[in-house]
Amino acid sequence: MSTLRFHAIKESLNRKPIKIEELERRSAIFGQNVFNEDTMRQFLTKEAFNSVMDAIQNGSKIDRVVADHISTGMKEWAISKGATHYTHWFQPLTGATAEKHDAFFEPIGGGRAIEKFGGGQLVQQEPDASSFPNGGIRNTFEARGYTAWDPTSPAFIYGTTLCIPTVFVAYTGEALDYKTPLLRALQAIDSAAVDVCKYFDKNVKKVNASLGWEQEYFLIDRALATSRPDILMTGRTLLGHSSAKGQQLDDHYFGTIPNRAMAYMRDLETECMLLGIPVKTRHNEVAPNQFELAPIYDEANLAVDHNSLLMDVMDKIAERHNFKVLFHEKPFAGVNGSGKHNNWSLSTDTGVNLLGPGKTPMSNLQFLTFFINTIKAVNDNEELLRATIASASNDHRLGANEAPPAIISVFIGEQLTKVLNELENVTTGKLSPEEKTDLKLNVVGKIPEILLDNTDRNRTSPFAFTGNKFEFRAVGSKANCASPMTVLNTIMAKQLIDFKAEVDALIEKKSLKKDEAIFNVLREYIKKSKNILFEGNGYSEEWEKEAKKRGLSNNKTTPEALKVKVSKKAIKLFEELGVMNKIESEARYEIEVEEYVLHIQIEGRVLGDIARNHVVPTAVRYQNILIENVKGLKEIYGSDFKKFAKEQLNLIEDISGHIEAINSNVTKMTDERRSANNVSDVEKKAHAYCFKVKPLFDEIRYHCDKLELLVDDELWPLTKYRELLFTK
Ligand code: ADP
Ligand code: MG
Repeated sequence: MSTLRFHAIKESLNRKPIKIEELERRSAIFGQNVFNEDTMRQFLTKEAFNSVMDAIQNGSKIDRVVADHISTGMKEWAISKGATHYTHWFQPLTGATAEKHDAFFEPIGGGRAIEKFGGGQLVQQEPDASSFPNGGIRNTFEARGYTAWDPTSPAFIYGTTLCIPTVFVAYTGEALDYKTPLLRALQAIDSAAVDVCKYFDKNVKKVNASLGWEQEYFLIDRALATSRPDILMTGRTLLGHSSAKGQQLDDHYFGTIPNRAMAYMRDLETECMLLGIPVKTRHNEVAPNQFELAPIYDEANLAVDHNSLLMDVMDKIAERHNFKVLFHEKPFAGVNGSGKHNNWSLSTDTGVNLLGPGKTPMSNLQFLTFFINTIKAVNDNEELLRATIASASNDHRLGANEAPPAIISVFIGEQLTKVLNELENVTTGKLSPEEKTDLKLNVVGKIPEILLDNTDRNRTSPFAFTGNKFEFRAVGSKANCASPMTVLNTIMAKQLIDFKAEVDALIEKKSLKKDEAIFNVLREYIKKSKNILFEGNGYSEEWEKEAKKRGLSNNKTTPEALKVKVSKKAIKLFEELGVMNKIESEARYEIEVEEYVLHIQIEGRVLGDIARNHVVPTAVRYQNILIENVKGLKEIYGSDFKKFAKEQLNLIEDISGHIEAINSNVTKMTDERRSANNVSDVEKKAHAYCFKVKPLFDEIRYHCDKLELLVDDELWPLTKYRELLFTK
């Protein structure tokens, strides 16, 4: 008997939900472990408090003396809550978060010690960062990178550690993390959007990008998950026959949350409340053992930090509940994968959502301006937007057998389609008073405050307008939202800058009125952005053909998709907006291509190992049992034995066939891997991994999965899909 699998099953069957006690109301504990405004008021001097607030609101610098005051207050607060250590918390390009804990404790001689944490330690640290990916920016043996405090994201306590959100940059100034370019992009969108807002309201001084992510994940019993070497090493199953029942009955989606999962979620939510992550909804997803968690949206930088933190917290709490969380985009073949919808909007310091229709024609013109500019931005940069969500794991969704497709398109709904059609016919140049009135009353004025049809229930659109926000749905569940948010806000900033220049030119040179100029520019944008608009089923062959005709990109694999990141246009865009310089763009590209290679390389090794060392020996063992059986039959029946051994003989042959196929394909894959490893150009290497190595995974898997159906269940060493997916 295959001991590990059955041991794991037995363990999983004895599980009980962990008892969770909720002591206080959620609202009472919300943000308790966050150094937020209330806490700062309590622990900081007035000067220090104002200085932090000014840094948050206006990006002003905090001087060193004040930093000392702040660190003292922060330390007092942290120690009062039981913290013993502090860390600069950052998001290097590995995808995980990083931290290095230092104790507050410091000996001062004479056998005495004090708790110390000064402004210097708050503001800047130098982690030994030689082994974080840097794409050649920083000579690895130099290891000169530093982390610097980001006061716009509040410090928090996790466990007994005070965590200080920071950026991570090289001494030469280049960003080595996700946060730095994001902060720069948020600055760019702020300034570009404020300029455009001024057409409508002179009082607007700040525009914030908002992000509300929806995190999908699988929750698998820990013993079962860790009994599978592929899940353990790669986060997904590299083989496994689909179970007789999958998701076809739709009985999991929005169904009752199983008890153990519920206990996990409640525990998780309590922790989120303490950390100030405003989680709000939880429900089952489409696939068995798949769930979703979503917070109330927040300022984008904070929301990104919250999501990164959440993924860490989810992992840790899962241990307590004997679960393993799978964030991989496609942990199981044949059932739905996981995504992370990024709901995005822009809002002003005067409290207006720029992507929400308003009550008056004027506010609706402002809405249309931002709405149409978003469409234009996506239209002009669709390939870059696709690139920003490319990863080896997300390739299993985009461009594979699952919606959304690798083609970026924008869904806007029936009502807004009509509005755009009307606006397309606006007269060129000056508008007659009648036309203006008509536009105000019948077009702009008729945009309902609530857009009822904007739910896009077919859910196949990768970028959908859903009433008062755009929803970027193609983001992978494992991804750091900073990448898509950086790109989206950058392309929008660029678009708004261009828009303002065009409108101003019409006002100055053609002496058009402001409204007329805006209508004129929007009309042209609508005409130019038609290719990106698509309302139909994004997951169909017809759309693929149609999209090709329209000239939209359809990059199905990561190596193909990433290339555009180092195109002249992209490098120029990031440079122009001050988001990334050329070195940073190129370094990131290199890191991502390399990461792709490593990913496929590891998967290849693991698959080869499982196929040869687990599957084949098991198949041989079973075949030997069959052979013994046939021999016995021959002994009893003599030359007549074939009559009784027919099935067994067939099985013996089938098994041999599959074993042969597995071995030859694993050999082929290993050879391809070797020759790919010898390619020194990283781009070509990724290409080889993608088109030479990876296709063999499917071949190998096919034969392993066939064997799973043939071999005695008692012997099969790998925990099966039904056990992984239906154990609650
Ligand atoms: P869905 O039907 O996709 O589940 P929801 O209305 O539940 O849509 O919203 C999903 C996410 O969108 C939540 O995180 C929510 O906070 C966020 N969201 C709602 N309004 C906005 C907005 N204006 N800007 C950004 N995110 C938003
Ligand atoms: Mg959604």
